[in-house]
Amino acid sequence: MSTAHILGFPRIGEKRELKLAQEAFWKGQIDEAALQQVGSDLRARHWAWQRDAGLDRVTVGDFAWYDQVQSTLALLGALPARFQFDAKRLSLSDYFAAARGTPSQAAMEMTKWFDTNYHYLVPEWQPDSDFSGGVEWLFEEIAQAQSLGHTVKPVLIGPVSLLFLGKAQQDRPFDKLTLLPKLLHAYSNILKRMQALKIEWLQIDEPILALELSPAWRAAFASSYAALSPHAPKILLATYFDSVAEHSALLHSLPIAGLHLDLVRAPQQLATMLVDWPAGRVLSAGVIDGRNIWRADLSQILARLQPLQQRLGDALWLASSCSLLHVPVDLAIETRLDSEMLSWLAFAKQKLAEISALQAALRGESNRVIGQFTSAQVACHSRRTSKRIHNEVVQQALQKIQPQDAERASPYVQRNQVQQARFQLPLFPTTTIGSFPQTKAIRAARAAHKRGTLGPLDYLEAMRKEIDHVIATQEEIGLDVLVHGEAERNDMVEYFGEQLWGYAFSEHGWVQSYGSRCVKPPIIYGDVYRAEAMTVEWSRYAQSRSSKPVKGMLTGPVTMLQWSFVRDDQARSQTALQIALALRDEVRELEKAGICMIQIDEPALREGLPLKQSQWPEYLSWAVHAFKLCAAKVRDETQIHTHMCYSEFQDILPWIAALDADVITIETSRSKMELLDAFAQFAYPNQIGPGVYDIHSPTVPSILQMQQLLEKARSVIPDAQLWVNPDCGLKTRDWPETLAALKNMVAAAKLLRESAVHEEAACCATH
Ligand code: GLN
Ligand code: ZN
Repeated sequence: MSTAHILGFPRIGEKRELKLAQEAFWKGQIDEAALQQVGSDLRARHWAWQRDAGLDRVTVGDFAWYDQVQSTLALLGALPARFQFDAKRLSLSDYFAAARGTPSQAAMEMTKWFDTNYHYLVPEWQPDSDFSGGVEWLFEEIAQAQSLGHTVKPVLIGPVSLLFLGKAQQDRPFDKLTLLPKLLHAYSNILKRMQALKIEWLQIDEPILALELSPAWRAAFASSYAALSPHAPKILLATYFDSVAEHSALLHSLPIAGLHLDLVRAPQQLATMLVDWPAGRVLSAGVIDGRNIWRADLSQILARLQPLQQRLGDALWLASSCSLLHVPVDLAIETRLDSEMLSWLAFAKQKLAEISALQAALRGESNRVIGQFTSAQVACHSRRTSKRIHNEVVQQALQKIQPQDAERASPYVQRNQVQQARFQLPLFPTTTIGSFPQTKAIRAARAAHKRGTLGPLDYLEAMRKEIDHVIATQEEIGLDVLVHGEAERNDMVEYFGEQLWGYAFSEHGWVQSYGSRCVKPPIIYGDVYRAEAMTVEWSRYAQSRSSKPVKGMLTGPVTMLQWSFVRDDQARSQTALQIALALRDEVRELEKAGICMIQIDEPALREGLPLKQSQWPEYLSWAVHAFKLCAAKVRDETQIHTHMCYSEFQDILPWIAALDADVITIETSRSKMELLDAFAQFAYPNQIGPGVYDIHSPTVPSILQMQQLLEKARSVIPDAQLWVNPDCGLKTRDWPETLAALKNMVAAAKLLRESAVHEEAACCATH
């Protein structure tokens, strides 16, 4: 009989219990025993749900106090040496200290887990990295699950992926793969212990198999699993997030007992993978989406599974496509979504039931689950046909899009002349990225407005006061291009999503982003339609308070898409286009209202890149098209800005240039302007503001520091193209440091102007 399981369950708890307990522990409000109790209760609850749903094995090892990569390091005794922990006696406080930093040691670096919005802590590798064993937590969790009577399937991050995801420390570059033998020895010890505990199956995640790998890394898989498999439970090697078909021969040759494939993200890989499928090997079919919140079309999935079952028999397992870490916990406690919307969705707990229902049907017990199948069918039908989802007006607008709709009327050079004449900005114009400090008063006003205790007019007045203050302050500081401060925005995506048709917001749909930090992604369920202006009144008011240009401020289509749960019934590119059309109307209306500069933020453009580089051009071409569609239909004299936070886009610069924004502001100060060389080599054609003030840090940069960064920028970017601005929005900063930093920034720009004038004078004198 086929086996039903999941690759992992969210650990945060349906009410974010883990987050609350972690934060209370950090503040010293609860002790370690109390925190341990919360973790233990959460695990027990989640295992019980898995068993009660009918899954054959519970997954153990998916729980982590902060992050699963860091917990793997704790298990191996491989947290960064610089913390000087006693690996075997690591306390929870030590573990948190590595994640969050100490007064003397910076926190471990954090980065995105593949193409998800989850962030893991990056292992730090050194030639002498040690794996001689760490904490017993995983074995304690296994014991806990066994004592509760569960059939346990532990999960570990695989050695090859773990090694790959870490960074060789920069002061001592070396080949990470040289650490592999030591690492395998450590894994081998762990696997032997599991075998002794009578664990039958072990899941080992090797997500890097979804990437395009070099021969050396591919070879590492062969040697690793040859070394591990002789003294181990049966190994189910789990891959997810994309196709692994290109590694099919390699995977078939590995001495493993089972392979998990993500058949939601990459259903097409199945055909290739089934060729020469090793006799007796388990295929764990990831058919329930671990990355999205839509209720599954059970009948349709069953129809796809039936031929597989005929071929594989009991060797066919059923599973979530990846860990359910990336979806919210339980739909049953949801209060903000209406009943129709609820009928379309499945969160982690509901997905357990879906997997189990499929298993029952495959076992010939359809009668038992007929109700579930029928209601899933009704729900999917209603989604396919609902008027809430399908909007004629949007469909028609989409069809009318012409290639020229994405092109500005004149090329940049011409626009630049018109804009220069209009704005008369000084050399090295100064500006900010949009938001100003979100004070307690601002948050309180927004919350009161939402609750209904602050009426619309009082709220309007409160926000206008904030705008007055922000505008007056910027004038006082001497900035050249102003912003309205974004006080009315809780979040750069939610603010727009709440005003657009086709977006829904849950009350409890939390997903872990990193550590104790959770996000509640909006749900894009239908055709996106803008019924009325979203930002125009705030921008118009702000502009009326100053004779200097005040930038209108929008979140771009790719970011709106990337930070939401998206439709699975149409291509992402299609949804992006719909959002772009909505934003285009907003851009036009801003222009009509007299807004002369409009910034369209795309901080998520880079993170939307597919895992396989060969698929980048396809993504980038629709992403760039969507952006240009928003921005193109303005007059030459209207200046379009864009902003991006993550500076690592050396490799996609031609696409960044293709956005054809008049000005781009980017994050560079943390990397000491490393990115600029790339901009220089590529000869970026438009204007650019490399951030000179790291807003992630509370330190106020000095005039001199910013001057030096700017001089560096001047050495590669022509003066006429250079803007002066911080790295990102200032909403997380306090006023005093913001004021001090911006004053220094303006002073640095002025000094730069003076030296540019001197240089020019000197230059003319010599000619
Ligand atoms: N305009 C936004 C702000 O200033 C941009 C935020 C971002 O890039 N993440 O807050
Ligand atoms: Zn930013």
